[in-house]
Amino acid sequence: MNSSSNGAIATATPAWWTRDVWETVKKAAEVALPNEVCGLIYTEVYGVAVHCFEAEATATSCFAVEQEVIDFAFSLRDANASVLATFHSHPLGWPQLSARDAGLADWAQLHLLLVPHKELWEPHWFTIQRAQQTL
Ligand SMILES: [Zn+2]
Repeated sequence: MNSSSNGAIATATPAWWTRDVWETVKKAAEVALPNEVCGLIYTEVYGVAVHCFEAEATATSCFAVEQEVIDFAFSLRDANASVLATFHSHPLGWPQLSARDAGLADWAQLHLLLVPHKELWEPHWFTIQRAQQTL
């Protein structure tokens, strides 16, 4: 089963993915241990770049500092940059997105989840459907 109630569907590695970007994202996940890391992968003048959010993080959650998210969103707009994907890590190893993770679809539908496996990080790509408002 590769789809779940949060609307996340396992998906293929995107065409713009490079070894450099993967190394950068893996390093961010490693540095954040034992906590989660969360951030964005976006286009900029020199190619594809990675931004990690300052966050209140634990081993099972990562809440980006709101003001930093706002400031970064403005800087992306000012630079005419666009977000290609979001990413975060699950240091404890769960290879699926949680219901809370689906909020990442506000930035981009594509999401990379990093999960440790035998002392290496495995990439798990998902397409997140924006949740329907059901009030
Ligand atoms: Zn998560």
